[in-house]
Amino acid sequence: MKDSQQFNPTENAIALFDESQHLTVFNQRLAMLWGLSTNWLKQKPDLRSFFAEVVSLGYWSQAQYLQLMAIMESIQSEKLQYIKQTNGVCLDTYISLTSDRGYIFTFRDVTAYETVRSNLSTQVKQQAFVLGLMERLQPASELQEIGEFALGYLVEAMGAAFGDIKIITGVEFDAVAHVLTNQVSAKFIAVCGDVARGEMETLLGKGIPYGQGLLWQVVTTGEPLFVDDYKNHPSAVSAFKHHSIGDLGIFPIPAANGNIIGVLTLESRTAQKLRDAPQQDMLLAACRLMGVAIERVQNQVRLSEINQDLEQASQLKSEFLTSMSHELRTPLNSILGFSDLLLQQVAGGLTERQVKYAQIISESGQHLLGLINGILDLAKIESGKAELELQSVKVANLCVQCLEMIQHRADKKRLILSQDIDQQLGLVNIDERRVRQMLINLLSNAVKFTPEGGQIKFACRVAYGSQLQEQYRPDRSPVNPSTPYLCFEVQDTGIGIAQDKWNLLFRPFQQVDASLTREHEGTGLGLALTKRLAELHGGTVSLESVEHQGSTFRIWLPLTEMRGELATNILTVPPAVAENKMELKSKNAKRIWVVEDQPYNQELIIEVLQLEGYIVDLIPDGGVMMEAMQASIASLMPDLIMLDIQLPKVDGFEIVRQLKASSDWKHIPVIAVTAMAMKGDRDRCLAAGVNAYMSKPLDLNLLNENIRAMLLN
Ligand code: ADP
Repeated sequence: MKDSQQFNPTENAIALFDESQHLTVFNQRLAMLWGLSTNWLKQKPDLRSFFAEVVSLGYWSQAQYLQLMAIMESIQSEKLQYIKQTNGVCLDTYISLTSDRGYIFTFRDVTAYETVRSNLSTQVKQQAFVLGLMERLQPASELQEIGEFALGYLVEAMGAAFGDIKIITGVEFDAVAHVLTNQVSAKFIAVCGDVARGEMETLLGKGIPYGQGLLWQVVTTGEPLFVDDYKNHPSAVSAFKHHSIGDLGIFPIPAANGNIIGVLTLESRTAQKLRDAPQQDMLLAACRLMGVAIERVQNQVRLSEINQDLEQASQLKSEFLTSMSHELRTPLNSILGFSDLLLQQVAGGLTERQVKYAQIISESGQHLLGLINGILDLAKIESGKAELELQSVKVANLCVQCLEMIQHRADKKRLILSQDIDQQLGLVNIDERRVRQMLINLLSNAVKFTPEGGQIKFACRVAYGSQLQEQYRPDRSPVNPSTPYLCFEVQDTGIGIAQDKWNLLFRPFQQVDASLTREHEGTGLGLALTKRLAELHGGTVSLESVEHQGSTFRIWLPLTEMRGELATNILTVPPAVAENKMELKSKNAKRIWVVEDQPYNQELIIEVLQLEGYIVDLIPDGGVMMEAMQASIASLMPDLIMLDIQLPKVDGFEIVRQLKASSDWKHIPVIAVTAMAMKGDRDRCLAAGVNAYMSKPLDLNLLNENIRAMLLN
């Protein structure tokens, strides 16, 4: 191609440079794009001078020019480059090498797409902002944090010279708008100086009283307000009337119920920008989010103040009760002491009637003493001053003592008192005096509220959270179904309690029927104390009752927190050494080997078995189990083996095979435990010779049943 040719105008501008890098072909569109003269173009300018001209005409920056030149040097065959010109026109520039080492440039005007794309990206940004704001405000616990974050973004996004968030306090004419946070752009300070900024901040710091300025209109109507040319507005606050302030938008910040609890003010060069959707929608959405967050934090602050007041009131109440109880005790001492002396008739004989009077004084005094002690106890527990004196207690002995204490009273009413105390229960870490107090409370109530000839059954055993979950409890604390509890149970065939009264029983001074109280002496504190003492042990109380038929009260003390001196033997040392350590163990208790590698399962199974009174040896893997089997020390031989099938080193199937092949071991029952729970597992285990098969998670009741059944055989 010898001459430059002119093409018809098309959508794309085209320029072809030959191997000597001179413009040889172009179209009209190319000339139009940069207002280049066709004559000049026909003079075949070279590539560098061509683009230098575009720069000198002000369409491109020097940097854009240099970038394009760099591309030209490295281009292999073709390249697409996006160029945003200084006049806002966006070009997709497609450069491709020709066969004779020239270049073809195609410039496509993509400004229209760009606008759509940038609108879309603004909307996406706004969505992202609202989402980000939500995420950020959710955990915020400080009003300041909420305000600063939201305002910072909004001022920036709107290009505002300043903005603030105000919170409304007080009501009606006493309302004041206090600034939560405000932001002034560096540009505003540069133009107006620090003085103007200082004036604005002083005014904001004082708060704007009801009626002043424009914001109250927004608070009243709940609608945003846009003010063109704020500085000349008649209602403008004078300290804010500054020449560089353009227009203002004031947006309501609503609480969840729609009440306006604050306002957001943003300055803008033109209020149109704040008015336009989607900005306005975004600003209103941001205000709603802020409203919810602000209200939440305000409520939290209010609640914590109330809590502090309540705590203080409760503390004062406890102190008052404690000191009052002490004051009452002193005169009571005299009443009790002197009525006793009277009854002993040391100062001379009394008539029968006088003796009766003295008896009444003494009994009333005792009753009063009981009340005072109860109040003191409760006050102490409620103020958090009561501490448990935990010690290893033989539970069965404690139960028997309590029954003996109540026996006489039961006999007097011809009540049959029976007991079912699990003798396997060993030592448990509890506060003996407190537990005795709870048991005597329940037993005394059973005696009191059971008519002559009735029955009272006392039981004590290990039970699990799953059983507790089904029962009525005065508290609703969560219960883990597999937690083992020491459970005391007092069952009577007495008057029972109507279900609608159950919730009252465990509150201080609540007696179901006042007429009964006269009939049955009582303080109305026993159950409240029992509940709190159980809670002090980390436990709870429960109740079942049918009116006119009887009641069952239970105390549940979690054993997980109170494992006393139950120790586990871990057979990781050669069995010969282990033997010496274990000589101390009781000869009667059955011994169970737990072959289990997972620490959590180890703990649970050991806990349960020890609570059932077994001696437990832990074997942490298949290798140790094989060693222990080979050693076969008579005094260490287990009565039963609980064997996890998936074990490190030697797996459970192999161990079962070896056990069942050995004349020493084959008679020892084996319970296989597996987490695999696959179809056919059970059969595989039983075929290998295990006596029972259980899958994880273990049903602890079933486990105990299985073990008991096997140890009986
Ligand atoms: P007190 O027995 O000193 O009145 P408690 O707190 O021990 O106080 O008991 C509160 C109330 O609960 C009793 O007054 C009685 O109405 C009811 N109550 C407690 N135990 C029983 C029971 N075993 N059978 C029927 N009602 C009972």
